[in-house]
Amino acid sequence: MARGESLRLLKSPCKKATHPCPCGFFGDIKRECRCSAVQVQRYRQRVSGPLLDRIDIHVEVPAVPFKELIGNHSSEPSSAIRERVLAARAIQQKRFADSPQTRCNARMTSKALKAHCTIDEESRELLRMAMHELNLSARAHDRILKVARTISDLEAAPDITATHLSEAIQYRTLDRNLWM
Ligand SMILES: [Zn+2]
Repeated sequence: MARGESLRLLKSPCKKATHPCPCGFFGDIKRECRCSAVQVQRYRQRVSGPLLDRIDIHVEVPAVPFKELIGNHSSEPSSAIRERVLAARAIQQKRFADSPQTRCNARMTSKALKAHCTIDEESRELLRMAMHELNLSARAHDRILKVARTISDLEAAPDITATHLSEAIQYRTLDRNLWM
């Protein structure tokens, strides 16, 4: 979750949390959701596809039991996450040094996307499958590439790998739930 956290710090265009279903317990580890599949789908269609397209990262966050919240779990301290985010920012600054209109991965034009988000054959196939399975739009396709670029930057990796890409695809969970 640490990396998800740092991604959220990097760019959080929409902080609004929504209930996953009418009763609010869909995906909850402790309580059972009593909504029907149709109810869940109808509820989620109120958040339309085009709107979801404009959000970079979708993550379902199950309610955390209070004991876990206050427990002394050994997660990565925010100071370390901050360092990683700053380093990823620096990589992006260097990358876009010659294009003043682009300051970060999220703002890449389609030309910049082609230049900085090249992926290998394995990743292309993975993305093709995801596009098909999740019925993704061209815009969602580009967002996945941009988020994958950021995930690789957070690891200071020069290239986007299939692992980075599949993590970025996972962040389109709402697309998946909407269409399956
Ligand atoms: Zn429910």
